[in-house]
Amino acid sequence: MEVNQVTLDALVDTEWLEVVRVRARVRLVESVVSKDIDATTSIDIHTPYGQMVECLSFLYAMVTVCASFDERLLARWAEGESSRADHLWGSIEQPESFQRLAETYLSGVRIDGDGNWEVPMNDFIEICPKISGSYWRLPNRPIKNGWVTLSPYSSENSQQRLSRLLKERIRTQLIKECRERMERMDEAFTGRMAGEVGRIVGLLQHQATSEVSFTSAEEGDWPPCMQEITTQLAQSVNINHVGRVFLASMSRVIGLTVDQAQAFFVNAPDYSADTTRYQLNHVFEHEYTPAGCPKLQINACCPVSRGDVKSNLCSRDWMDHPLKYLRARQRSKHREEQQKAPAPSE
Ligand code: SF4
Repeated sequence: MEVNQVTLDALVDTEWLEVVRVRARVRLVESVVSKDIDATTSIDIHTPYGQMVECLSFLYAMVTVCASFDERLLARWAEGESSRADHLWGSIEQPESFQRLAETYLSGVRIDGDGNWEVPMNDFIEICPKISGSYWRLPNRPIKNGWVTLSPYSSENSQQRLSRLLKERIRTQLIKECRERMERMDEAFTGRMAGEVGRIVGLLQHQATSEVSFTSAEEGDWPPCMQEITTQLAQSVNINHVGRVFLASMSRVIGLTVDQAQAFFVNAPDYSADTTRYQLNHVFEHEYTPAGCPKLQINACCPVSRGDVKSNLCSRDWMDHPLKYLRARQRSKHREEQQKAPAPSE
């Protein structure tokens, strides 16, 4: 802002900054519609002009979010922007540049002899409770003299793991900073932003009404993996640990009770009411996220990848999580119902 001599007032209505406002709207819409911001942009961020547009559009989007005083919009925008940083930073090719960025969010970072990034234990302890998955539990991480090693995991290298950690810190800081800005925002400025805010909040509301709750999922909407596991359990086929945890966590996400989830397991060959209850309670209380398709496939829980079942949805390029399957099924049902609804009479 200072370098380019652009004030907040100028950003709101100066004509030559329209390109910045347009880019900011795109960033906002992306975060509202997909909760994620596409890391690609037509703006070349390697030029001073591109960098200026990116910086100012980020600021304009932030100011719009603050002027909305809408916590849902704030949460979605912060998630989108932090995800964007996660994607971009995970692929930075110069370790020195990545280190400089990481150091602005952590008290320190360093690389060990194996080329893995390490972070101070206090930073890790502060951030990791907000990230799900056993990788992020301190007892599962190597620690050397107060430094936690972020070793590669699954398909992610150490830099991508550290970017994931940084995403959480960025998200928290964005939310904190926006709340502080909201406190300082005066009525006159909020009024000037009313049109901009109205557009994005309207989109958010439209998005919320067209999103269908998972809790209305009927059995016909369940992904083939979930259908197969429940059928096999009913037939007393032994299901492996990954499949059981997946079924328990899916049950929670689609709004079943612990009792209803327990009913799936009563015919399991090793069924014990107390043990099952204990394990289900654990999954529900800790809000486990269901495993994604790659994990289910590796653990023989995906009938589509084994060729036992055909599914158009599961064959799509973007299909990497059973919740996406559920969401896609519900969206198409929702659309069909809307098309069938009688047109309003005159
Ligand atoms: S592709 Fe994914 S959603 Fe479909 S059955 Fe396999 S694991 Fe389930």
